[in-house]
Amino acid sequence: MKDNARDYGKTLERDFSGLKIAVLALQGAVSEHMDCVGRCGARALHVRRPGLLHEADGLIIPGGESTTIGRLSRLFGFREEISAFAAAGKPILGTCAGAILLAQRVEGQDPIIPIMNITVQRNAFGRQRESFETELDIPALGAEPFCAVFIRAPLIKEAAEGVEVLATYNTGIIFVREKNLLATAFHPELTDDLRMHQYFMGIALEHQHSVTSSLNGHQASA
Ligand code: GLN
Repeated sequence: MKDNARDYGKTLERDFSGLKIAVLALQGAVSEHMDCVGRCGARALHVRRPGLLHEADGLIIPGGESTTIGRLSRLFGFREEISAFAAAGKPILGTCAGAILLAQRVEGQDPIIPIMNITVQRNAFGRQRESFETELDIPALGAEPFCAVFIRAPLIKEAAEGVEVLATYNTGIIFVREKNLLATAFHPELTDDLRMHQYFMGIALEHQHSVTSSLNGHQASA
């Protein structure tokens, strides 16, 4: 799938070299996301145990198996740390199983780290062998269509109050944003297109700047 070397959305490209982006490394497509972060120019942190997240400017929760990632998150005490990370305004990108992890409502089961006001239905697009890729219009990522890879993907059945729908596929919601939190049903790390990661890191840069300017303002008025 990494065969597409088109010239993608230059406008999302910024200097990300001052950012550290954690990738939750419990299970799933960890190395692919680490690779995308590095190719965007930021430093990728391979986070397997809690206690390291405070260093990060953003967090990616990869696709894989949400039950496994959820079980390990609970076991290692990541759930509280990830909730606190989100509450501090730092950005989180949950892809596929990662989106399931962040949903406040998961059909037929308990939620895992319920921080996004969405309802998801697991495996809504069928089994592994029914995996597919398709070109989607995602205006937030620029005018070029985005190649989205769906592998046993969830559907976002409901984007409730405060959640912005950024892309749909056949009327089903597959990419949303709620302030600093992003969730995608598809895998953006499996193609050469870095725009999803750049968009996410743009949010991380804005957050970093807002913290720095409020600290400076505080010092100036002290
Ligand atoms: N079907 C998986 C789940 O429910 C998600 C698949 C994926 O992340 N590609 O956890």
